[in-house]
Amino acid sequence: MQFLTEIPLPVLERTGLDADLSDAERDVLETMHRFAAEVMRPVAAKLDRMTPDEVVADGSPLFDFLKQLDDLGISVLAVAGLEPAVAARLLPLVAEEMGWGDAGLTILSVAGAFPALAAHLSGNPELIEVFGARRGCWLATQPDRGSDVADMEGFALERGSRHHAGNLVARVQGDEVVLHGQSSAWVSGAPIAETALAYVAADYGDGFHRPDGTIHGMALLVPLDLPGVSRGRPLDKLGQRPLPQGELFFEHVRVPARYVLADRDRFHANFFSVLAFAGLEMSSVFTGVARAAFEHALAYTHERRQGGVPIIQHQSVRHRLFELWRKTESARAMARRITSYNLRGSAPHVLASATGKIHCTQMAFEVASEALQLFGGNGLTKEYPVEKLLRDARAALIEDGENTILGIVAGSWLSREYQSRAR
Ligand SMILES: Cc1cc2nc3c(=O)[nH]c(=O)nc-3n(C[C@H](O)[C@H](O)[C@H](O)COP(=O)(O)OP(=O)(O)OC[C@H]3O[C@@H](n4cnc5c(N)ncnc54)[C@H](O)[C@@H]3O)c2cc1C
Repeated sequence: MQFLTEIPLPVLERTGLDADLSDAERDVLETMHRFAAEVMRPVAAKLDRMTPDEVVADGSPLFDFLKQLDDLGISVLAVAGLEPAVAARLLPLVAEEMGWGDAGLTILSVAGAFPALAAHLSGNPELIEVFGARRGCWLATQPDRGSDVADMEGFALERGSRHHAGNLVARVQGDEVVLHGQSSAWVSGAPIAETALAYVAADYGDGFHRPDGTIHGMALLVPLDLPGVSRGRPLDKLGQRPLPQGELFFEHVRVPARYVLADRDRFHANFFSVLAFAGLEMSSVFTGVARAAFEHALAYTHERRQGGVPIIQHQSVRHRLFELWRKTESARAMARRITSYNLRGSAPHVLASATGKIHCTQMAFEVASEALQLFGGNGLTKEYPVEKLLRDARAALIEDGENTILGIVAGSWLSREYQSRAR
């Protein structure tokens, strides 16, 4: 507490009420901001208006973005590999800035690096050689296994029931795994991916089910140029249109068993780790979306005149604008807290990442929706940027685990933790 001699304006960073950014962190922030403003936003604006087939066609601006991101050398996953204390501070800054640039492109770059990251984390030289530098995707959901995937372990949603093995299954045959079936249409980056990190039900020779009705699983890395792999057409959808998504089909595809990352004993923990990480990135990316919507509304309410004055001069408009600010700040605070917990705590947990993912995506949706309202009729048109932000934020309420389902899973963990203490 200090007594002031005069009343200053608040000192705000790009990232709001930040009092202790180091010079190095500010440098990273500024680099990512330039990239988001000069590369991501213009590319995303074009891709948003293109058809899904055009987005993935040769010569699409999508590939310019991917090339320039590679050249930049900074990404959510590059940062995630740093020492935990450093990563816990930098990751939210980088992910927020990229999300401010474009959510769909950010998700593409993050999900696209999951197989490479998994290969590096395995420490296995062959996996690093085959998968460590290729563009990939994260294949978890299938047509009949959407929300169910968030409860892979089977204690939150389907306790006591016999689980569906899904539409894509693995069978171990000697030194090979035979993969057969299809993914959902929602696999991010699938239309342009060269590899997949797949989580599937597996038969190791004694059937798909464990005695308790849950399934044996397998995590494996799959090169998508193997015979028998094909793709569906890219999906046409409401939001995050720069992010190409689509089905992957596997017709008795023979994958070397050496590419198995986690067998039935390590499957659940392996999947849990990826889900716990995915929630972090979603939290900061959609903080960036909320901030983008707030900033557009801040500028517009100072330009648009009604009642003879810029609308910001109406008290209710100032209050509504403040609510956008407050929600954006609360998303950022949450994103940083859960990132710190998962990267610096004793072990990452889905309870933390679900808490962040649900809160931050909900805040992004509310901020984008009210920002559009502040734009009036203009907010509905493609002449202005807020309708895209609203569409992008809307998709996030379902992406990486539908929010209601994630809440059920997280609530189940709270109960489980309480019961373990009560014993
Ligand atoms: C933008 C985006 C990106 C995505 N990226 C990927 C990706 O990279 N890889 C991947 O594998 N998947 C991806 N997905 C898929 C995503 O994880 C699923 O869409 C999500 O898990 C929900 O599954 P679903 O769409 O099948 O909905 P459903 O599971 O069919 O759910 C429909 C509704 O039913 C409710 N419901 C379902 N089960 C229950 C229950 N037991 N109790 C109560 N209510 C229930 C849900 O709350 C929901 O409202 C992505 C999705 C989106 C939108």
